[in-house]
Amino acid sequence: MLFENDKIRIGPTGVKKEIFLMKGRNDILRKGKRFEIPEYLSAMGLNAYEFSAGRMANFSDSPIYEQFRVNSKKNDVAISIHAPYYISLTSENPEIYQKSIERIANTYAWAVWLNAKRIVLHPGTYGKSKIKRNLTKMIVDGINSGIILSKDLYPKLKEKFKEICLCPETMGKLGQIGSADEIIEICSETGPNKARPCIDFGHLYTRNIGKIIGRNLYMPVFEKIERDLGKDIVENLHIHYSKIEYTGKGEKMHHSNDSSWGPNVEPLFKIIKEQGFKPIIINESPELESDAKKLMDLWKKMS
Ligand SMILES: [Zn+2]
Repeated sequence: MLFENDKIRIGPTGVKKEIFLMKGRNDILRKGKRFEIPEYLSAMGLNAYEFSAGRMANFSDSPIYEQFRVNSKKNDVAISIHAPYYISLTSENPEIYQKSIERIANTYAWAVWLNAKRIVLHPGTYGKSKIKRNLTKMIVDGINSGIILSKDLYPKLKEKFKEICLCPETMGKLGQIGSADEIIEICSETGPNKARPCIDFGHLYTRNIGKIIGRNLYMPVFEKIERDLGKDIVENLHIHYSKIEYTGKGEKMHHSNDSSWGPNVEPLFKIIKEQGFKPIIINESPELESDAKKLMDLWKKMS
């Protein structure tokens, strides 16, 4: 089945330079190289990795990425890519909107070069405009135009694009589009063969100003996804997790998963276990791979 996940997978969004070390000559530790990330994570017991292209404007295929692709397959690490933050599919400025469509098209090619099967996307902001605009329609049209353009720009990669899923993400600040309902609506209108949700539960927690916690943070979202998008989608979700500090406006900053901010992961793991879900869970805490490893250890203990 398209976009099906073989098992629950956990990994970080990036690695820490200070601890990313590999064995070199005579077993002496040396700094790891980018293409070695999958091997490094797999040795830690992790099996997913989200490549952050958030601040990237350009990207081109190179022998390093060829090695990265081979390495990700060999070590069974599922790759996703976070699309550039500059993308705004709700911009009132037609030039920015068009540029955003181009960036989406390019990100499809970047995904192929990384062997990434999921593209995570921030849909946009509500903006200050008093003119009533149909923002959901702008986002859905933008995604569809981006997909069409990707095939025109990269005809040789066309077939590979079919294996890639675009994942609009739930967002943590109140000025950003991205409640669970909005993301589900965007995915429903774009269609399951193109878009499926990225549910960032840390963001949903800060969006609710910490008012909804525990099982109540997780279960209604899963239920709504199953109802509106289907069983196959809720079973194979893309999930972001980390503890996040909030203010009255929502998300303030990410913290280590040991912090006293929410949300707690235990109720999430309990639901995943009892429902038999197989999500990819990306740890977005500043402790990247170390916290991802703690999540994996906890999951193994609970399952
Ligand atoms: Zn994000």
